[in-house]
Amino acid sequence: MDYKVIAIDGPAGAGKSTIAKKLSDIIGYTYIDSGAMYRAVTLKVLRENVSLSNTEMMIAVAEKTVIDFKDNSIFLDGKAVNNEIREESINKSVSIIAAISEIRKLMVNLQRKISKNKNVVMDGRDVGTVIFPEADIKFYITATVDERADRRYKEFIQKGCAVDIQDIKSQIEKRDHIDSTRADSPLKAASDAIMIDTTGKSIEEVLEEVISHIKIKGGGIVVI
Ligand code: C5P
Repeated sequence: MDYKVIAIDGPAGAGKSTIAKKLSDIIGYTYIDSGAMYRAVTLKVLRENVSLSNTEMMIAVAEKTVIDFKDNSIFLDGKAVNNEIREESINKSVSIIAAISEIRKLMVNLQRKISKNKNVVMDGRDVGTVIFPEADIKFYITATVDERADRRYKEFIQKGCAVDIQDIKSQIEKRDHIDSTRADSPLKAASDAIMIDTTGKSIEEVLEEVISHIKIKGGGIVVI
């Protein structure tokens, strides 16, 4: 059987995971959040009190870490860590750890392994450029930094968290800067990616736009 890959890349807070999840539900594909894996390694590094300047130790931690996905949850060494990996401390550190080549190699191998023999929608930064350069369809989803910060801000407010929108914006900018300027697999659109600017658009509008580029055909997909 011919398995398909839909790659969704883009900067922080562009709505990739929301779109990827909804799309995978609609077309019956497995959703894989590649960023969650870097977040899980970061959680372990922080838990083990390893300094973010000690590259060797961070690699050693990553090498002995077991990451797995089951029933929409991510497991770090056998324990679900869905909430823990979304904490502020992780947001602040994850890009530093994700810039380390040896750690990227481990993650990319795992990302390919867990996608084997499955139809997948995967979101991240290098899905269409590095993990699956042969993906069947690639999207690059973005939005202005102000809109991305505003969306995150509203999410926090809804959860009852007091946050400063300027802090959120500067954190997104910092993360994008590190992600797009790193030497290994920087954040960028694949040359054959479909570009979608979600600024001013609702989730439903973006989803419709994404679906307009794919045609669902008896469980398979073809590019229009
Ligand atoms: O997608 P998310 O914002 O959860 O990703 C967290 C971080 O993980 C990113 O800012 C980036 O540093 C890293 N990442 C990556 N490559 C991916 C996915 C995420 O470097 N494919």
